[in-house]
Amino acid sequence: MAKIVCVLYPDPVDGFPPKYARDGIPAVTGYPDGQTTPTPEAVDFTPGELLGSVSGELGLRTFLEERGHTLVVTSDKEGPDSELERELADADVVISQPFWPAYLSKARIAKAPNLKLAITAGIGSDHVDLDAAIERGMTVAEVTYSNSISVAEHAVMQILALVRNYLPSHQWARDGGWNIADCVANAYDLEGMNVGVIAAGRIGVAVLRRLAPFDVKLHYTDKRRLPRETEEELGLTYHPDARALARAVDVVSIHCPLHPETEGLFDEKLIGEMKRGSYIINTARAQIVDQDAVTAALKSGQLAGYAGDVWYPQPPPADHPWRTAPHNGMTPHVSGTTPSAQARYAAGTREILEDYLAQRPIRDEYLIVDGGSLAGTGATSYTAGTGTAPGVSA
Ligand code: NAD
Repeated sequence: MAKIVCVLYPDPVDGFPPKYARDGIPAVTGYPDGQTTPTPEAVDFTPGELLGSVSGELGLRTFLEERGHTLVVTSDKEGPDSELERELADADVVISQPFWPAYLSKARIAKAPNLKLAITAGIGSDHVDLDAAIERGMTVAEVTYSNSISVAEHAVMQILALVRNYLPSHQWARDGGWNIADCVANAYDLEGMNVGVIAAGRIGVAVLRRLAPFDVKLHYTDKRRLPRETEEELGLTYHPDARALARAVDVVSIHCPLHPETEGLFDEKLIGEMKRGSYIINTARAQIVDQDAVTAALKSGQLAGYAGDVWYPQPPPADHPWRTAPHNGMTPHVSGTTPSAQARYAAGTREILEDYLAQRPIRDEYLIVDGGSLAGTGATSYTAGTGTAPGVSA
């Protein structure tokens, strides 16, 4: 029998379950690449419910306990006295969401001799030391595509919010003002601007597709070039690297995974080479940009705006500079955990557990590390073997 430790974010401050704004969510059965949404044998939740907080339990308790397994759910994840660290000693499986990551450092993996599987309920497994997982022979799996469209929508929203100066204008309205000149002096049309994505994977391409009708000039860079038909269909300009793209555009949206090649990519030098008044939107991972360089560029006006939903660490301290930096449109890490996304990644987590517990192969698209090396999506989107683990706190 397996012991599964699941680290989820805390319940709403007003209690669980919350009062829902809508009575349901649309049913989505397939992804744009033809892959089906998760196909577990069954689910024990109603899509649209809050599943990602502690009391939601990703809808897993009945399924696991009926089969004799042990499920521990906690949000207490930091430091040696945390429930996570105590429960790791005999855990077989750890489940975590990037929004409230259970950092699985080399030291923590060493404290968990039985640990065989780390599941990311969502996408992005940089909170696991992948080198240590490879060394241990663990499997790391995530629910590929489960929230890619959710994130793409959030990125497009934040691009528009920054460029059109939405948040300050809304604040004038809330405060009882009608200061039109103040609202519009730094508001622009997106039409005609050059907009680029760093990485054209599942999210990056979805952002490009959603922006195409805005009559912008679209750019991208990626390690792997898109098919010529896609480039032509969307009118894309390809750049060989992030530097070339950053210098050519007005708006950059970041969509690569965090791994040794991408850590610190947007440093003071690269941000300094962008056009004055550029915008950066980062819904990928915080450490892809230099936190202090972004803050300084917002203060100097080199950047006209910075938005996104990813921070480091998570949760960030109360005095994190991005909470108060000028022209920032940051949200907590929420883009990939709408109830729509939760329904998919909770079902995907169950699918992975069903396969793992029955000793069946896990969907190849879900694999990041398996059998002692990067595998599946991990083999195409990540790099390992450098001895660094950029997203993992010690
Ligand atoms: P994906 O695997 O489909 O795409 C990743 C792309 O990055 C691939 O096309 C790959 O070739 C490219 N890439 C990797 N290294 C690169 C490099 N050095 N330079 C240029 N391109 C590079 O993944 P996805 O579904 O598009 O997700 C991308 C990332 O977004 C995730 O890894 C995760 O970090 C982040 N994410 C965030 C949220 C959120 O809630 N904010 C949710 C989901 C995913």
